Parts: sequence; structure tokens; C-alpha cells
Amino acid sequence: MSRILVTGGAGFVGNHLCRKLLKEGHEVLCLDNFFTGSKNNILDLLGNSYFELIRHDIQTPILLEVDEIYNLACPASPESYQYDPVATTRTSVLGAINVLDIAKKCNAKVLQASTSEIYGDPKVHPQTEDYRGNVNTIGIRACYDEGKRCAETLFFDYKRQYDINIKIIRIFNTYGPYMSINDGRVISNFIVQALQNKDITIYGEGNQTRSFQYIDDLIDAMIITMSKDKEFSGPVNIGNPIEFSILDIAKKIIKLTNSSSKLIFLPLPADDPTQRQPNIDLAKKELNWEPKIMLDDGLKKTIDYFKRII
Ligand code: NAD
Ligand code: UDP
Repeated sequence: MSRILVTGGAGFVGNHLCRKLLKEGHEVLCLDNFFTGSKNNILDLLGNSYFELIRHDIQTPILLEVDEIYNLACPASPESYQYDPVATTRTSVLGAINVLDIAKKCNAKVLQASTSEIYGDPKVHPQTEDYRGNVNTIGIRACYDEGKRCAETLFFDYKRQYDINIKIIRIFNTYGPYMSINDGRVISNFIVQALQNKDITIYGEGNQTRSFQYIDDLIDAMIITMSKDKEFSGPVNIGNPIEFSILDIAKKIIKLTNSSSKLIFLPLPADDPTQRQPNIDLAKKELNWEPKIMLDDGLKKTIDYFKRII
């Protein structure tokens, strides 16, 4: 049994990870400031004596004794990370320093939840880990993208300078139960709109693409990455390489929910990446991992979840 810190543990990805780690017999410390996460996401875990909730903002240092750290604390949807952009950058940069300092003190392994957004609006397609990206440093997405890029730099500098056992995964768009109903991400927005027979809000013409992975595949990849020996730090892309246009996603969700919703077209937000698809050769080779859950199956599970909560 290990004692494992999950920052951002009350968020969408974080609560799934906490559940899986508890199931595997570990002790879990869930740290969150509830900026986008919610106590409701982990309510059923609060009675478990191997689960501990720490209300804390990772921008501030904290001393904890742990064996492993998964650093997930950061708002992830464009709407939530643009709400207080300074806090977003501070969370990624100071948060990285603070978890790395814990790792240094306890000799713990530490995994950073990085993102496909570090590639910006990519000029290389599909994206491989050696692509250095195309980010508008002064745009409205930069608080997230540049914060995450700087966190990657800090992780590698702590490795080189202090010999910390680090891992970096670059997560591509992930969806599933426990997504926040109102954080503005496309899958949750479209499912909620479709279930309520409201207009489906397509930004731009809907020709932009994304590759969507189901949450269970991501959680498996996170745990496998953490288990790798010290020599493997990544960064490694984690995503489902099957690419869809946003228009395709809207039509699919209308069909799966049997909805009478109509499509409406709204302005495309600034710097919205036109295409995104992971190359996952490295994950296949180093982690012996690839996603198993296809979009229709994952969407059905996610739709069932939203049917229960709205
Ligand atoms: P989320 O918004 O649901 O979860 C983030 C969690 O971090 C929330 O519980 C929030 O309250 C917490 N948090 C935010 N700022 C904090 C702070 N300063 N101190 C402590 N806690 C804080 O988002 P998510 O989808 O679960 O994303 C989790 C992580 O994975 C994020 O780091 C995100 O950048 C990364 N990621 C997610 C995706 C995705 O598609 N879901 C894709 C790429 C990367
Ligand atoms: N999007 C959309 N309608 C919505 C929400 C999002 O058309 O109601 C688009 C958005 O412009 C982007 C894509 O869907 O092109 C994915 O958006 P999301 O916020 O889920 O993730 P990200 O942009 O970070 O990949």
C-alpha cells in the first residue's frame, strides 16, 4: 500500500483516479480548493478511512508525507481557466513548484497532468511528443497553455537538478461521468443541451476537430505511467487517436439521445485550435497502453450519467 496525494482530486478526472487508487488498496489524500471540483464528486468516499480530504489551494506550499503525487489541480475547461487567468497560471506554475518540493522532501514520485494544449493550434498533425507547439503567448488560452508548458519545464529541471522521479503525460480531450454540468466543455454541453431538447451550440462552423478519450482509458494510462521505472519520464501523449469534427459530435449526440434539438452556430472563440489528434506510438511502446473504449460506448455511459443528475 502506498500513500498517494491527488491534487485536484475532487474534479472530473481526479475523483475517478481517487476511486481507482482506493480500489487498488492505496491510501489517498485528495487535495482540492473546490474551484471547479465539488464535494459532491467525492461525497461517497468521505466515509472511507483510507480517504482523506484536504481543502487547500496548491498555489500555497504544504507539507505532506506521501509516496506518490498525481498533480491534477488546475481548471481545465476554457471557460473555467479563462475566468481568472492569473490564478490559472499561478496554479500551474506555483502548484508545480509546490508538488515538486513535496516530492523532493519525501523522495516521492510525481506525475504531472499536462495537456495537448501545450501544442497550441498545431501545425504538425497528428501531434507527436517532439513537436514543440504553436501557442499564442498573449492570447486568451495562454494562461492555461503557457502555465502547463512552464510546469513541464519545472518538472524536467527538478529531475535534472534534484534527481526527482517525474512523469509527464499530455492528456487529450477526455470525457465521461462526473464532468461538471456547466464548465462549458463540448461533450457535457452537447449532452445536457440534447437531453433538454435545447439548441446545440456549435462554435464556428463545427469543422474543427478533436479526438475524444473515455475517462477509464485515461485513468489506466495514468496508473501505468506512474508504475514505470525512474528512467521513463515522458512526456507521453495519452488520448484516443480517432478524430471527429465538432459537427459530427453534435449529430452523434442528438442521435444517441433521440433529441429534437436543433444546431445553432455561434462565433468561434479566439485561438480555438482547428485540429487535434494524438500520435500515441510512444504510449503503445513504453506503456503497452492504447485506448479500449470507442466513442459511441463512452458517450452512452456519459449520457446515462447526465440523465441521472439533471
Ligand atoms: P476539473 O476542472 O474537473 O478538475 C480540476 C480540479 O482542480 C478541480 O477539482 C479544482 O477544484 C481543482 N483546482 C483548481 N485549482 C486549484 C488550486 N489552485 N488548488 C487546488 N485545487 C485546485 O478538470 P479535469 O478535467 O478533471 O482536469 C484535471 C487535470 O487534467 C487538469 O490539470 C487538466 O489540465 C488536465 N487535463 C484534463 C483534460 C481533460 O480533457 N479532462 C485534458 C488535458 C489535461
Ligand atoms: N465547442 C462548441 N460548442 C460548445 C463547446 C465547445 O462548438 O458548446 C467547441 C470548441 O470551440 C472547441 C471544441 O468544441 O473547438 C472543444 O471544446 P472544449 O472546450 O471541450 O475543449 P478544448 O477547446 O479545450 O479542446
